[in-house]
Order: sequence, then structure tokens, then C-alpha cells
Amino acid sequence: MDELTRMTAVELAGQIAAGQVSAAEVTQAHLDRIAAVDPALHAFLHVDADGALAAAKTVDERRAAGERLGPLAGVPLALKDVVVSKGLPTTCGSKILEGWVPPYDATITRRMKDAGIIILGKANMDEFAMGSSTENSAYGPTRNPWDLTRVPGGSSGGSSAAVAAFQAPLAIGTDTGGSIRQPAAVTGLVGHKPTYGGVSRYGLIAFSSSLDQAGPLARTVLDAALLHEVIGGHDPADSTSIDAPVPALAEAARSGAAGDLSGLRVGVVRELGGEGYQAGVLDSFRQAVALLAELGAEVVEVSCPHFDYALPAYYLIAPSECSSNLARFDAMRYGLRLGDEDDASLEEVMSRTRAAGFGPEVKRRIILGTYALSSGYYDAYYGQAQKVRTLILRDFAAAYERVDVLVSPTSPFVAFGIGERVADPMAMYVNDLCTLPASLAGVPAISVPCGLSASDSPTPLPVGLQVMAPTLADDRCYRVAAAVEAALDARRGHPFLADAPALTGATAHTGATR
Ligand code: GLN
Repeated sequence: MDELTRMTAVELAGQIAAGQVSAAEVTQAHLDRIAAVDPALHAFLHVDADGALAAAKTVDERRAAGERLGPLAGVPLALKDVVVSKGLPTTCGSKILEGWVPPYDATITRRMKDAGIIILGKANMDEFAMGSSTENSAYGPTRNPWDLTRVPGGSSGGSSAAVAAFQAPLAIGTDTGGSIRQPAAVTGLVGHKPTYGGVSRYGLIAFSSSLDQAGPLARTVLDAALLHEVIGGHDPADSTSIDAPVPALAEAARSGAAGDLSGLRVGVVRELGGEGYQAGVLDSFRQAVALLAELGAEVVEVSCPHFDYALPAYYLIAPSECSSNLARFDAMRYGLRLGDEDDASLEEVMSRTRAAGFGPEVKRRIILGTYALSSGYYDAYYGQAQKVRTLILRDFAAAYERVDVLVSPTSPFVAFGIGERVADPMAMYVNDLCTLPASLAGVPAISVPCGLSASDSPTPLPVGLQVMAPTLADDRCYRVAAAVEAALDARRGHPFLADAPALTGATAHTGATR
């Protein structure tokens, strides 16, 4: 594998800024890597080699002209296909948007371009971000670089696989109920769901508007923090965007890496763990909690009794909002349109297009959501779920009076086999047991690798530690995650992903490469 693809975003940007390597060379190395391994992985739905190389050339020219470049200038990135990008196909993993090319950039796309970040292409995802495995993509599943027979998590599984397989050092994911954190956990990456409103949703194709939030996936905490600083901050084009400065995230990551957590109060959430969780996941989690104490944190157990109801509440609120948001795919405005060939009526065109254009999980949620919102049922279902949401918010508020951050495993399970859960919606939904409370409350949460589970699969697979913080205290997540990362790297003697059975050529092999 090319050495350039092994480097972190910080290392790459440093070398580019110092003129040791050009952005064009860095981009080409990643495009070569994609050409070599993506046939086996299917992390990308669209690779924009020409656009990426042209953008890299611009960065090189700006550097040559003596311009001061941003901290991620010239660094390549995989963009989840739910984020619109001018001139590049954006499908949301759905047949209904096949062939649609957006005429504008999402705010985060524009901010990344302005920062000199190179967009390599669009990453695969569960259709409309509904799922935990990327198997709901209309374009076929993505595979986990740790074990090609397993899923890379979802719905941002193309993003996670691309970064874990060294196709890109950075990716953008979106998280409605866990879709950044769970894919990060099961592929051994860092993934952060920002405070709701902390990152603009303008140009993010909506699934559940009161929950959706874009955020970074990276191989290190510092890389994730730097990307978050680029995309975060107020945007007048998004009415739910918070008009407050982004906390100093990279600084928090750097200070956390020094490894001193004395004075920090950590709450272990009693309700997130125990029965139904895999043994290797719980083992790694316990060791991570012990590590936090070793680093000086004061660890206590905290009870958040309403977290037990997060799953049913989420699976009423998210489908309800999706049933409304997805009404715009009516065959009139974007993408697929069926029925014109035999002069079908307006309703018939809509019905045929939506029948053929949406996959089974999307249809299930539209039906569920429409039912939950219908008159006579609204109070019993949607209204009740919103009340539960308030109770979950109160659990967080009460907990944050006693502690600074809350921790849990990111997911009850390590990466599972392709085909294992996709036919059983409940088996898929429980992947998000630990991530849903922070989504419903809008608070920030990060997943950082905390070890390998040897007991839950024939080969060791990554486990994630989730760190949740109060609204707008995203910096706390980065600080704690960086402390864990630095301590574990020091113990292992090398960065986490060096343990991964890295893909070479189009096939997987095992063995550390450092
Ligand atoms: N897996 C959850 C769902 O299917 C969360 C998805 C997400 O965060 N986009 O809804």
C-alpha cells in the first residue's frame, strides 16, 4: 500500500503545506487505492477522479502562490451520498434519485471545498440513511475491511469502510439515531455526532429533520476534530442552526492526548449495558472505564431510567418525520419517473414511481410514520413519543448535574455478518440502543475505538466507547476520546488501525503492517 494512504489527515496536510508532497500526488494515491480495493468493498457509489485532481491542482497552485492554507488543505475525503454536491450525482442510496445531479452545494460541502478538502466521491449508505448495515442501499451492500463477510455498520457504512480501508483519511457521515457512531465503532474509527444544530443541515437530504446531523469520521480523534471545525458553525440557511461559536475542538483533542483527566466526572449509564450485549463488547467497555479512572477521572454509575424507552420513541418519531420528508419524491421534481410511456394519470405516475423507487425499509417507515401521524392515532403514538423524548432530555439534565460526561458502549454488538439481520427489522433496530438517547436529546456524542473483541467472532473485531456530553460541549467528547486513544496507542505501541487486516489488492489478508 502506498505510504501516503496510511497517513493521518494532519500528517498529510503538514507534508502538503511544507511542500514535501503535492496535493495532486496525495489525491492520486487515494484514487489508486480506491481502484485497487473498492471492487471488493463497494464503499463508493461515485468516484470523481477528474474533479478531485482538479481541486488538488488548485490547492497546489494556491500553495505555490504563497497563500496560507487551512489545516486540512489538500486532504482527500469521502462524502456520504446524502449530502448534496454540485455537479456530482447524489442518490441517497435510493433508486428514486438515480441520475439526479444537484445544482447546488450543501453548506458543509461548500465549507469543505473552501477549506481545500478534496472530495474523492460519494459514499454508499442505507437508502435515505435508514439502517445500521448499509445493506439497505439500492446499489448493493458495502463490506467491512476487517472482515469482508461482515457489514461496516450503517447507515454511513460507505464512509466508514472508505476510511478504515485507507481509501480516504476522512469522511462525512450523518447521524439520525447512530449512523456515524455505530459504523465508526464496528470499523475501528472515530466518529462524532455533533450537538444538534451545531452543523448546518442545508443541503442534507432530510430523513428525520429534528434528529439529522452531519459529522466527521476519521482514523484519529484530532483528524475528526479538525474536520468538525471546518463544517461546524452557524448557517443562516438552516433555521435550526445554533448561532454560537464552535468550541475549540482540535485544542481539546490535543489537550486530551496529554492523558490527564483528573477533575473530570464520568458517569457510566446503568441502562446501557448488560443483558443482550455481546460479552467481548462489555469486556472492552469495562477496560475502557478502568482506563478512564487510571487517567484520573472520577467514575460513578448513573441511572437514566427513560433511556429504556428511547428505541420505541425513536421508531415513532423518525418514521413520522420521514413520512413527511419523503413526500417530496413524487416523480415531478427529481430523479425517477415512471408511467409517461403509457400516459398514466398523475396519481398513477406517483404511485408507480414510488413503488419502484423506494426499497422495503423506506416503505415500511413511510407506512409506519403515516399511521403514527394520522388523526385519532397521533396522540397515542407520535404525541406520546415526544413526551418520552422530553423525559430522556430530563434524564440527561439530571445526570449532567452530577457528571461532566456519560459513557457507554457505542453498540451492543461488533460487526455482524452480511445477510444476518437484514430480514428482521427489530434485529437491525437494536444496533442503536446506545446511540438513540443522545440523538433524541440533541446532545453531542463520540465513538472512539476502545479495544478488540475476541469472543464475539472468529477474528478480533473493533469495539467503540461512546462519550456523551451536554449540548454544545462537543469539546469534552474530543478531549476524553483523545485521552483514551493516546493511552491505548501507547499500550499497543501503534495506532489502532494497524491491527486491521488491511486490504491489499482486491483481497483481504490478516496481519499487522507496522
Ligand atoms: N439505524 C437507525 C435507523 O435506521 C439510525 C439511522 C441513522 O442514524 N441515519 O434509523
